[in-house]
Amino acid sequence: MAARTGADWRPGKGRPRNGRSALAEAALERAAEGFIGMDGEGRVVLCNPAAAALLGIAPSGLWRPAPLAAVLARSTTLDPVSATALAHALWHGAPPGEIAQADGSVLLVAVDGTTGDYRLASLRLKPAPGRGGDPVDPMTVSNGGKDFHDRLTAMLPGPVALLLIGLDRFRAVNDSHGHPVGDALLQVVAKRIRSVVREEDVVSRLGSDEFAVAMRNPAAAQGMGARLVDLLSRPYLIQGHVITVGASAGLATGPQDGADAASLARAAVLALLQAKADGRGTVQVFNGAMETHSRERRQLEDDLRRALALQQFEVHYQPQLSLDDDGLAGFEALVRWRHPERGLVPPDQFIPLAEELGLIVPLGEWVLRTACREAASWPAHLWVAVNVSAKQLADRDRLPRAVAAALAAAGLPGHRLEVEITESALARNEVDALHVLHALHKLGVRISMDDFGTGYSSLSQLRSFPFDKLKIDRSFVRDLASSTEAVAMVRAISALGASLGMTTTAEGVETADQKRVVAADGCTSIQGYLVSRPVPAADLPGLIAKLTPATSAIAERIS
Ligand code: C2E
Ligand code: CA
Ligand code: CA
Repeated sequence: MAARTGADWRPGKGRPRNGRSALAEAALERAAEGFIGMDGEGRVVLCNPAAAALLGIAPSGLWRPAPLAAVLARSTTLDPVSATALAHALWHGAPPGEIAQADGSVLLVAVDGTTGDYRLASLRLKPAPGRGGDPVDPMTVSNGGKDFHDRLTAMLPGPVALLLIGLDRFRAVNDSHGHPVGDALLQVVAKRIRSVVREEDVVSRLGSDEFAVAMRNPAAAQGMGARLVDLLSRPYLIQGHVITVGASAGLATGPQDGADAASLARAAVLALLQAKADGRGTVQVFNGAMETHSRERRQLEDDLRRALALQQFEVHYQPQLSLDDDGLAGFEALVRWRHPERGLVPPDQFIPLAEELGLIVPLGEWVLRTACREAASWPAHLWVAVNVSAKQLADRDRLPRAVAAALAAAGLPGHRLEVEITESALARNEVDALHVLHALHKLGVRISMDDFGTGYSSLSQLRSFPFDKLKIDRSFVRDLASSTEAVAMVRAISALGASLGMTTTAEGVETADQKRVVAADGCTSIQGYLVSRPVPAADLPGLIAKLTPATSAIAERIS
C-alpha cells in the first residue's frame, strides 16, 4: 500500500493539531505495522495504511468513526470466521490473538494500550511458511489461457492432474451485486484456491468463472478437488455483502486422459460438464464414457440437422374423445423421428435439442403443414391439434403466416386446426406470444393450453388470453386413484374451464376408472391409451372407422 496523506485515515479531520500529534501521525502513516484504534463504543477511530492493507480495505473510507463490525465487513482479505475472530480479539483485548488465515499466514493481534476509553491494537502478518506472503496479492494466479496452456504443456507428458473448477451461479452475483463485487469475489476465490494447493501447482483463471489447477501429484488430485469444492462453496464476505456461490470440479489426468494440453483440457471440460449435470457441488473424474457420450451427442446433433432434408420425421396422431357422446372429436399430431440406426425416436429425446439448435422452427412448420394436409382428408367434423414450442412464439409474424399458408395449401378451414401451447412457453415471452395467439384467433384457429396445472403461473395466464381449451396434465390423471389433491385439481380445473367457457381435456387416460372419474368431475373430453396410442397416418382410416359410433355399430353388426 503506497503512503497516503494522513487525512485518509485520521478521524476528526481538520481538528487543530500540535506538532507532537503531527509527528505521531507521520509515524503511524509510515509504520509497517498495522494499528487500529477504537473508542469505548467499539467504533474504529483510527486505522493506519498498514492495517488497511492487511484487512484489504480502502483507507480513504475510514476517516470517519465507524463500528468495528462494519469496518471488518469491508475486508476483502478476511473470511467471515477470521473477521469474527479478529473482532473478538480487538474487543476483548487479551490475550494477544493469533488468527490463522486460509492461506496459511497468521494475523497477530495485540492490544498495545488503553487511554481512557480508547484502545490501540496492532496487527501484524506472519507469512505462511515458505511463502512471500502478501495476502492482498492474487497475482499468483495467472490470467488467461495462453500462459496456462504453455505451463501445462511444460508439465506434460506427465504425470499431471488437471482440475477444472467451475463456479455455479457466478453470473447471478454479477447481475445482482455488480461487476466490482464479482471481480472482488473472483480474487478471493483465487486466493482460496492458492491457499490450499502447493507452491509448484499452476493455478489459472480460464473462463469468466472457471479456474484450472495443474498438479504434479495426481494421487492427491481428487481429494484436492473435493476440498476446493467445499472451500469455494463457503460464504464470502465481499464489500459488506455475504455471498455464496457453489462450485463443481472436473478432473482429468495426463497422459492417459490426454497427452497434450488441448486434449487433457477437453477431458477435464467433459468431466466438469458431467459434474454440473449431476447437480453441482461434486468432483467428477473423467472417464471414457464421457467422451462417448459427447461424441454421441455431437452425432445426434449432426443427424438432427440433416433429418428434415432426409425426410426422417413422421407425424403420428392420437384421438380425443368427447365425453358427452363418446364420439371422436379430433386428433393431436405428435412428431416422431425415424432414425436410420436408432429406430423411432420419441419427441422428448429430440425436441429439446431441436429447440437448442434452432431447428424447432422449421420442424414445427413442417409438422403444421403435414398435419393440415392429413386432416383435410378426414371427415369434416374432425380437427387436428398441433404442438407449438416457445421458440415459435418469439417472432410476432412468422407463426401466423406459416399457419395461414399451411391452411391455404391444405384447403383446411381455420376452425379445424387447434394450436397447443404450454404455459411455460407463454411465460417465457408473454408479449409477443400473446400477439401471435391473437393473430391465430383471427384465422379461426383455436388455442389450447397444454399441460395445464404444472406451471406456476397457470391462473394468471388464463386472464391474459381467451383460451379455447385446457388440457389437464397427465400427472394429475395418473394420480387420481392415490391422491386426493389430484382429484381436487381435476375437479377445480374442469369447473374453472366451464365457468370461463373453455373445454377441458384430461390427458393420459389409461383406464376405464380414470375415464369415469374425470367424466364425473366435469371434463369435456379425454385423450389417452384407453382410447388409442398415437398411430401413424396410415392407420387413421381404420381408427376413425372404429371410433365413429355409427360406423362401429355397423361394423359390429356385420362381424
Ligand atoms: P404432450 O403434448 O403432452 O403430448 C402427449 C404425450 O402423452 C405424447 O407423448 C403421448 O404419446 C403421451 N400419451 C398419450 N396418452 C398417454 C397415456 O395414456 N399414458 C401415457 N403415459 N402417455 C400418454 P409423446 O408423443 O412422446 O410427446 C411428448 C411431448 O413431445 C408432447 O407432450 C409435446 O410436448 C412434445 N411434442 C410432440 N410433438 C411435438 C411437435 O410437433 N412440436 C412440438 N413443439 N412438441 C411436440
Ligand atoms: Ca400437446
Ligand atoms: Ca400435454
